[in-house]
Amino acid sequence: MQTYSQKFKTGASALALLVVVGGTYGFRRLQVLAADPTGEKDCGPAVGAAEQGNVNLERIKAIAPLQGVKWSQLGGSINDASCLNKTEIYGVVEVHSIDDVAKTLAFARDNKLSITTAGVRHSMGGQAFRKGGIVLDMRGFNRVVLHEDTRSITVQPGATWHQIQNMLDPRFAVRAMQSTDIFSVGGSISVNAHGMDHQAGALARSIKSMRLMLADGSLRTVSPTENKELFDLVVGGYGLFGVIVEAELSIVDNAVYQTGRRMLDYKAFPALFADDIEKDANVALMYGHLSTAPSSFLKEMLLYTYTKVDGTDFKREPLGEVGGTKLRRLTINLSKQGPLFQELKWLSEKHIEHRMEACTVTRTQAMGSAEACLVSRNDPMHDSVAYLRNSLPNDTDILHEYFIPRSEFVSFVDGMRKVLTDNQTNLLNASVRIVHQEDNFLTYSPQPAFSLVLYINQTTDEEGNRRMKKATEELIDLTIAHKGRFFLPYQLYYTRDQLQRSYPQINDFFAAKRRYDPAELFTNTFYQKYAS
Ligand SMILES: Cc1cc2nc3c(=O)[nH]c(=O)nc-3n(C[C@H](O)[C@H](O)[C@H](O)COP(=O)(O)OP(=O)(O)OC[C@H]3O[C@@H](n4cnc5c(N)ncnc54)[C@H](O)[C@@H]3O)c2cc1C
Repeated sequence: MQTYSQKFKTGASALALLVVVGGTYGFRRLQVLAADPTGEKDCGPAVGAAEQGNVNLERIKAIAPLQGVKWSQLGGSINDASCLNKTEIYGVVEVHSIDDVAKTLAFARDNKLSITTAGVRHSMGGQAFRKGGIVLDMRGFNRVVLHEDTRSITVQPGATWHQIQNMLDPRFAVRAMQSTDIFSVGGSISVNAHGMDHQAGALARSIKSMRLMLADGSLRTVSPTENKELFDLVVGGYGLFGVIVEAELSIVDNAVYQTGRRMLDYKAFPALFADDIEKDANVALMYGHLSTAPSSFLKEMLLYTYTKVDGTDFKREPLGEVGGTKLRRLTINLSKQGPLFQELKWLSEKHIEHRMEACTVTRTQAMGSAEACLVSRNDPMHDSVAYLRNSLPNDTDILHEYFIPRSEFVSFVDGMRKVLTDNQTNLLNASVRIVHQEDNFLTYSPQPAFSLVLYINQTTDEEGNRRMKKATEELIDLTIAHKGRFFLPYQLYYTRDQLQRSYPQINDFFAAKRRYDPAELFTNTFYQKYAS
């Protein structure tokens, strides 16, 4: 999703769109499309309400709450970033210490309640809660300590990348994270997140060690060399093995990069990556955008690169927040309105936005090209995507991600174009990223892959959900036919058979979960649906 952060550096391109369409489309409607959210969206009952399992809510409601921890909510329901997964729960404990976690696990064991750990709940398929369960809200458990000598940080799991970057800047930067900075460390480890650093690989490779609280309340250190089996299960393990209470992560220098972009035909991308980008160690970050305009749908591609610049004579601006939220939001929401606006959005990305790029680093001595745009590593990674949230009723935007072996890229994109066109899918954004072979137990990339990240708009009614389900099933079948895998933190629209075919290790994963947690204390909606 960082895609948007790069695209709309100043928001001025959105302003250009505004001028073009304002007269004809109506300024009142434009205001609605640009408006800030007024709170959490309520999209009604969960899509998969029938699959949330048989939980005796009456028994649960009668259980007196644990004293000595802070309940931010007792009873009621919870949702995630999709707004499509409203789920009734026992309550939410605000975690501030390891002791809070230990006490709550003991209370849950004694009362036969289940536990799900939650970060900022940007997974989109109920992975961070379960019907009738207790949710551990880790957001307030977020201390970060820097170790300059070992170039690492020790973090509590509720810390977000945004908070960590504010602390590391200007000297250091995060090594591996998602493309945007809103997520918690605990949630990111639990999906083995990846982003735009195509050399660093996924987050797993940055983890020096973690402390985990197991179902019996004991603490265990896990790392690539200590309790490795459990480490491999916890990374990308969706919270099913324990609560991550601390992690030590390696960090890197906040290097200076020169920004670059080029237009290409999508068919040229695999060779360009293999022959050029992958071989150039100085290209430190990269991602692509495929066209979402009908006239060049998934054919034209913009490739963005960040290439390391040597030197010490740099003057850096302080790390800033992304501005122009309303204009960015307007541009995204306008593109939901039909083919003309989709064309305008792509034209703007091709021809306008790079001219508005924020270049935050300058040389103190006159060197290099005067035209070069320099930024520091933290800049493109420091985007909290407020513009993705909106107040549009009956409307939500859903992520998908597919990991495709590199040799299959072109034919997969061709198949994807057909599925999306046949289903009249409202595609807002299509990014291309690099993933390496990842060796965690439930790996999404057992071999080097390109990943395709799709951001898709839908209505929140039955018809919108039906259409999204159908497109998802077809995209997953296509992925499996290309020997790829789909990313698991999103909507649970796939069948058990599709899960099994995409992740042949899934039964062993669930068996290991029961070995470490025989009473199934740790659970979530994904586990409820596919493991039972
Ligand atoms: C707009 C958007 C953009 C995204 N971009 C990317 C991207 O660029 N790259 C990428 O890889 N993914 C991306 N994602 C997916 C996202 O990385 C994951 O959903 C991630 O888990 C979100 O972190 P979170 O804090 O919201 O976790 P949550 O959704 O709160 O939790 C995710 C999982 O982690 C578990 N968990 C959370 N904390 C702990 C803990 N302390 N101990 C044990 N288990 C825990 C939860 O139980 C749950 O199963 C994106 C999602 C959205 C909505």
